[in-house]
Amino acid sequence: MITWHPSITQKILLSYLIIGLLVTLISLTTVWELHRLDQQIIIWDKASHFFDAILELRRFEKNYFLYNELDDLTEALTYLKQARELLAQPVFLDLAETKLLRQTLTLYQQRLQSYSHFQPTQNHRDFQQEEEIRKLGKLIVQRAERLSTVERLDLQQSISNSKHWLLITLLTLLLAGLGLSRWLTRSVIQPLRQLQQRMTAIAGGQLTTLPLDSQEQEIIALTAAFNQMLAQLETRQQHLHRTDKLAALGTLLAGVAHELNNPLSNISSSCQILQEELGMAELQWQQELLTQIEEQTERTRLVVRSLLEFAKDREFKQEILPLLQLIQDTLRFLRGQLPTGISIQLQISETLLIYADKQRMQQALLNLLKNAVEAMGEQGHLELIAKEIDSTSTFSMSSLPQPITQAHPWIQLIIQDDGAGIEDAVLPKIFDPFFTTKPIGHGNGLGLSIVHEIITAHKGYIQVENINSKQPHQTGTRFTLHLPAPSIPKEK
Ligand code: ADP
Repeated sequence: MITWHPSITQKILLSYLIIGLLVTLISLTTVWELHRLDQQIIIWDKASHFFDAILELRRFEKNYFLYNELDDLTEALTYLKQARELLAQPVFLDLAETKLLRQTLTLYQQRLQSYSHFQPTQNHRDFQQEEEIRKLGKLIVQRAERLSTVERLDLQQSISNSKHWLLITLLTLLLAGLGLSRWLTRSVIQPLRQLQQRMTAIAGGQLTTLPLDSQEQEIIALTAAFNQMLAQLETRQQHLHRTDKLAALGTLLAGVAHELNNPLSNISSSCQILQEELGMAELQWQQELLTQIEEQTERTRLVVRSLLEFAKDREFKQEILPLLQLIQDTLRFLRGQLPTGISIQLQISETLLIYADKQRMQQALLNLLKNAVEAMGEQGHLELIAKEIDSTSTFSMSSLPQPITQAHPWIQLIIQDDGAGIEDAVLPKIFDPFFTTKPIGHGNGLGLSIVHEIITAHKGYIQVENINSKQPHQTGTRFTLHLPAPSIPKEK
């Protein structure tokens, strides 16, 4: 069976067509009804004229009998002719009555004319004939009255029918309008509303694509276009990530070169000593040198492995990690680029754990630390403080309308430098992609937007404060991160 699923445009056109057809139909029938009424008024008018003519006829008949004036007779006959002409038209409803009236009028005319041939005078009257004519006249009046009443009643009935008809058509139009608007609401407005709700859900991060479950062609096309746009956005997002990751890799490479330098020179000098002393030195010392070479080789292997791990494209996967270790690893790569005038202080417990994707969290930390180092220049002090805050404590974020009150413990990490700080006017923009205050070639403006994205992917929050504006004699920037603490069953 073929089922027809009209598009939204077709539905709107169909509604217009139905309303248009209804209005045309109602207008045509109303015009026809008015025309019918008009005809009935004409007939009723004729019936009234006929009745009037009969009354006049009877008046002149009476005068004629009273005064025997020929003029009265002529007048009576004129009205009689008029009445017969009116009756000759086949318009009246009561055909039987009309026929009887016609016959009675003919009889009446014959009697009146034969009476006139008798030429009556005041003293010469035929009372019997007069009485017969009078009786016929009375009968004619009664029948004319009945005819007129029938037409009047019919006209009244038609007027009342027309009133009902108008009321019914108005009601039909109203009901059709209501029905169509309900139908349109269900089939047009509701899918659009659903689409809007789903788009809102996407904006809120609850959905990734819009489901193509609508039967409306336009909604399907719109959904497909929206999904395509989402896919393109996703691709661009990945592209941005790659760009930022490449920049981070550049930083790491510089760090790696620095990190490899020490163990390699250690290995090299141990090898040189061994070559010179081979066979002459004590065996135990030679073994110590070899152990050192092995340890240093292991150290280089670890450095290279962490670089490779960072470089690899991996799916987002969270695991439980010691925060201090993660920060130290990240700092190690930065160390080569750290001016000697910069000191770093860590206040992080070795036991503090986070639930994070190692690679991405390292990328976020690297971006934050690099920015802090750049803001401090040749001299400065960098502090990293982390602690767990319990499930009952709430924290407020200037970027969020309400304080965060989720009932689970959080890991709070503060990264605070005493660098140049951020101007208040710039502060709201720093998480925007491509926003940078650095000269061309020094910044691409992606770092903090990626940090924000990574922290959000971990269901965490990031906040920035300008120390400058809070404490007059101190400058610098403080980034505060909140990450949900990993739920580890507590040992009893
Ligand atoms: P980029 O570092 O490429 O400019 P980011 O998104 O990492 O891009 O940073 C955006 C801007 O935020 C920087 O240009 C800088 O002005 C400001 N910024 C970020 N971190 C700090 C900081 N610790 N101190 C001062 N300014 C900062």
